[in-house]
Amino acid sequence: MHLLIESAQETPAEIRDLTLKEIEQVVEAAGERAFRARQIAGWLYGRSASSFDQMSDVPLALREYLKERFVIGCVSRQTVSRSADGTRKLLLTLGDREQIETVVIPAGKRVTLCLSSQVGCAMGCEFCATARMGLHRNLGTGEILRQIFAARTALSDGEALTNYVFMGMGEPLANCPRLLKALRIMTEEWGMQISPRRITVSTVGLVPMMQRLLADIPVNLAVSLHAGANDLRDRLAPINRRYPLEALIEACRKLPLRSRRRITFEYVMLGGVNDSPEQAERLAGLLAPLRAKVNLIFFNSYPDSPFKTSQRAAVERFQAILRHANLTATVRESRGADIAAACGQLYAERHCGTRAQPAAG
Ligand code: SAH
Repeated sequence: MHLLIESAQETPAEIRDLTLKEIEQVVEAAGERAFRARQIAGWLYGRSASSFDQMSDVPLALREYLKERFVIGCVSRQTVSRSADGTRKLLLTLGDREQIETVVIPAGKRVTLCLSSQVGCAMGCEFCATARMGLHRNLGTGEILRQIFAARTALSDGEALTNYVFMGMGEPLANCPRLLKALRIMTEEWGMQISPRRITVSTVGLVPMMQRLLADIPVNLAVSLHAGANDLRDRLAPINRRYPLEALIEACRKLPLRSRRRITFEYVMLGGVNDSPEQAERLAGLLAPLRAKVNLIFFNSYPDSPFKTSQRAAVERFQAILRHANLTATVRESRGADIAAACGQLYAERHCGTRAQPAAG
């Protein structure tokens, strides 16, 4: 009886929330030597262990100690939708039944994983389906990482993840402490040993956090701009009222960029809204003082979406103006739209009342 009450009061912690230092503290509290922490981290982050019983070189008593206090957060349920273009979307159900989506996008030799950082989002960008949910909650560090382990199970033979982009649900820099910890675990040699060059964090432009992120870990930064003038950006990305373009660009200018690195600016092409030559000229002027490249994104529509995508000719004209101003400008083709896995479509299904049809398998 006594035991029952105790266990009802304490929810076991997620062990993949912990860095090596924190695992060391746990190990020492258990009366074991600190080097055991590296073995445990090796199992958790290097070898994708799903149970403490697998940790064969860790003493049994320590494994029992961990089992009593922690869980290895495995996804309770996951469904995979496959697009005709090879994109796979995983719907993961978390412990409290909240759901997140993560998308595997193969392109040539690259396999990119698009990661969520929050359940929903509070940023309220006018054209984004995720924004309609509002913010349900932040993801924990272990929950962020769980997407990687889950995605690995959805890979084909010989396929491996090569790139990681925080472009799924949520605003990563609004969940900074947990994101930074996840990035540390992803990149450290005792962790997942992923090169920070292969990781991109996309932000709507939370100015104070951008500096903090790059000072901590030299990942790639993508900034969602979508407009070359404040009046338009105020409307499309309301966070602009707090951090207007001048402040955002000035902050980008001061970022501690590694040599040869550039900041990517994302620009969703909304037909008749932000795709005019005049906006292109303004954008080029704005980015002139920066080491920048521009990624033009076709708007992906969803049920009741208030915008339409730009005509290809308008995108090409926009791109030509940027290139004429010596900016690198690429066009991101939409992937996985048939399974509602494309940018801005995540979680649209249940909240917009339609269901995407998996294209295969
Ligand atoms: N909060 C982060 C990550 C968001 S998703 C950010 O704002 O950068 C990554 C990109 O997809 C962002 O540039 C976002 O503006 C864009 N996006 C959102 N909705 C979209 C849609 N319906 N079609 C195309 N891109 C969209």
